[in-house]
Amino acid sequence: MQPDDEYNRTLIRNVRPPDWINPEPAARYNLAVIGAGTAGLVTASVAAALGAKVALIERQWMGGDCLNVGCVPSKGILRASRVWSSVHRAAEFGLRIPDDTVRDFGAAMARMRQLRARISETDSAHRYRKLGVDVFIGEGRFAGSDTIDVVGRHLRFSKAAICTGGRASIPAIPGLKEAGYLTNETVFELTELPPRLAVIGGGPVGCELAQAFARFGSRVALLEQTGSILPREDADAAAVVMERMRGDGTRLLFESIVKNVEKRGQEKIIHFETNGNRSDLAVDEILVAAGRVPNVDGLGLESAGVTYDSIRGVNVDANLRTTNPRIFAAGDICFPFKFTHAADALAQIVIQNALFPHPLGIGLASTDSIILPWCTYTDPELAHIGMYEAEAKGLGMEVETITVRLDEVDRAVLDGEEEGFARIHIRKGTDKILGATIVAAHAGEIIAEVALAMKAGAGLGTVSRTIHPYPTQSEVIRKAALAWRKTTLTEGRKKILRKWFAWTR
Ligand SMILES: Cc1cc2nc3c(=O)[nH]c(=O)nc-3n(C[C@H](O)[C@H](O)[C@H](O)COP(=O)(O)OP(=O)(O)OC[C@H]3O[C@@H](n4cnc5c(N)ncnc54)[C@H](O)[C@@H]3O)c2cc1C
Repeated sequence: MQPDDEYNRTLIRNVRPPDWINPEPAARYNLAVIGAGTAGLVTASVAAALGAKVALIERQWMGGDCLNVGCVPSKGILRASRVWSSVHRAAEFGLRIPDDTVRDFGAAMARMRQLRARISETDSAHRYRKLGVDVFIGEGRFAGSDTIDVVGRHLRFSKAAICTGGRASIPAIPGLKEAGYLTNETVFELTELPPRLAVIGGGPVGCELAQAFARFGSRVALLEQTGSILPREDADAAAVVMERMRGDGTRLLFESIVKNVEKRGQEKIIHFETNGNRSDLAVDEILVAAGRVPNVDGLGLESAGVTYDSIRGVNVDANLRTTNPRIFAAGDICFPFKFTHAADALAQIVIQNALFPHPLGIGLASTDSIILPWCTYTDPELAHIGMYEAEAKGLGMEVETITVRLDEVDRAVLDGEEEGFARIHIRKGTDKILGATIVAAHAGEIIAEVALAMKAGAGLGTVSRTIHPYPTQSEVIRKAALAWRKTTLTEGRKKILRKWFAWTR
């Protein structure tokens, strides 16, 4: 973990203590967990709190991707990039920033490292030991259907959980390896801003980091093989983010396939093809953000009778059971939605299903009950939950869609954050929420209200009757609910009301 400064030394003391001595293994564990990312940490800590004897095995860093090379460092630098971007708008708010203002990328990265080190206390090996978990630092490998080997010790288990996550997928581009590239594992080690950066991949990780680096002052080009960023999302929602990214100076190169990369002196030349036309791009660094692959290699899954797919990961059923009934899986290793809060939710399911008896399947927890919101933390943010309109229609549902623009929300106007909209899909003839997409400065916060409504089975009628403080950006949800309510006022009802008012005048 570079650079070797006080912050990273604190981080390492927490997540991989250099003087760590693995404990003497228990004769048998109720639960052995491989991988101490979010899924593994939650599984291990909850099981230990319930009184189970738990082993937790981590080969690299406690905290996994999220803490060390994912959510935490990315959101740390995104915050800095937002501040840098606000400076461009300062005059609009009556503040004139001198042209010679110092822009210190190194300091922004140091702030991130400091905060990451602070947050790492929570995931530290010592803390987990205090929680009663046997923490083993080393590579875990199944040696049979009820045994895991770690640094020469055999751990016997009654149940196990595979929580080994994933890593960046590296496309087979000729010359890329020789030229050198960054991934999420190395980009947060930078202390100097690359003057020119190419980002390969327009998914959430690529978009967030492309925008951040553009705001720091890199000349960023994002190469994406499809025709849009964030292709899973509604096209008009992605378009709002795209417009802002372009405004921040990011070149978006769509339908662009990287053919090969060449190192020329200090420069890296990317040769790519867009709709049959070849072009070159000279950059100083390349960030690969082209999806994720599961960490299944070297786990000895065959010896444990656990089947897997090298792209999708470990095969599980809706109860997160693998093909070995003793062994479960949670997190990025087995789930298509690769988020920290998803890993957390799956860990709870594993606890419920692995540690307690379920005669005839009674009380088994299932992924089918998960209602999962997610958010891409670009500016504006793009959040989604539940079904998209096409998805619901594909299932034969009649859908009604309400869209409210942020420029109709007073607080968004006053904040100067009026780009975007909230869109809610409901089942026609009812107020049942099927899904929502929000693109807005604080979409990740606002979507939580929709998540609660969906989980609690509260429809748009309840949302419309819920008092929201004025002025807040979350009023956009209530406005959508009120707009829906107006649609329930049919001509027939209006006629009756008109008669009533005429009679009572
Ligand atoms: C740049 C970036 C930003 C992200 N931002 C967000 C965000 O804002 N919000 C969000 O919800 N999600 C975000 N994510 C996704 C999030 O980080 C993952 O979904 C989450 O970390 C998954 O947790 P996990 O426990 O399944 O796996 P991981 O966090 O990958 O943990 C798996 C652990 O298993 C260990 N391991 C693997 N094999 C072995 C073995 N054989 N023996 C021992 N240990 C092993 C690994 O070293 C690792 O520590 C981001 C990801 C990236 C890359």
